[in-house]
Amino acid sequence: MSRKDEIRTKALKELQEHAVLMLNGHFDFGNGYHGRVYLNPHQLFKHPSTIWRFAQDLLDVLPASLLDATEVVAGPVTGGALLAHTMAGLLDSRRELSRERTLFAPFQVDVECGHSLSRFYRQQVPGRKVLLVDDVRNTGQTLERCAAQVTEAGGTVIATAQIYDRLESMVDLGVPNVPLAEYKAPENYPAAECPMCQAHQPITSF
Ligand SMILES: [Zn+2]
Repeated sequence: MSRKDEIRTKALKELQEHAVLMLNGHFDFGNGYHGRVYLNPHQLFKHPSTIWRFAQDLLDVLPASLLDATEVVAGPVTGGALLAHTMAGLLDSRRELSRERTLFAPFQVDVECGHSLSRFYRQQVPGRKVLLVDDVRNTGQTLERCAAQVTEAGGTVIATAQIYDRLESMVDLGVPNVPLAEYKAPENYPAAECPMCQAHQPITSF
């Protein structure tokens, strides 16, 4: 197993230890559906040291050439922005002091277009290479909207990365996507047809 594979395997285990990812449960999602897997990204940020460690691991699995090219790390609020801020700082700690310092840019929630950069952060992006990050990749549409904002502001997205990929992305941004951990959850069931209910498995609290 390569070093990067080892980091990925360890990360998937640690996501479970930190209760970010709960497998083999019986969860009532409160929307009429039950399922075996529950994802709680808030657990990543409850203790800042947790996200620092996962951010280090994500940097370790990203190709060195990509990290070397990165000038801005950007991510959508809240989880993506916290991760981007941490990664931008950690990147500088790995670089020569003479290099220009890495910039950070958060995408705020925007009622019209989903996510946007404020005027201040838009001004940092033109002509720069941007690494787009998020805590979790769901359908990929959030990253797609953020990438469009970077392009519109005159920056270039060179890659996307996330702590956890649900493997349900419906979009291809035409740049590499690097997840730290990935896992595809089995399908959820309407409560009336739930096999765990039929097996009298107690509901897992979360
Ligand atoms: Zn059930």
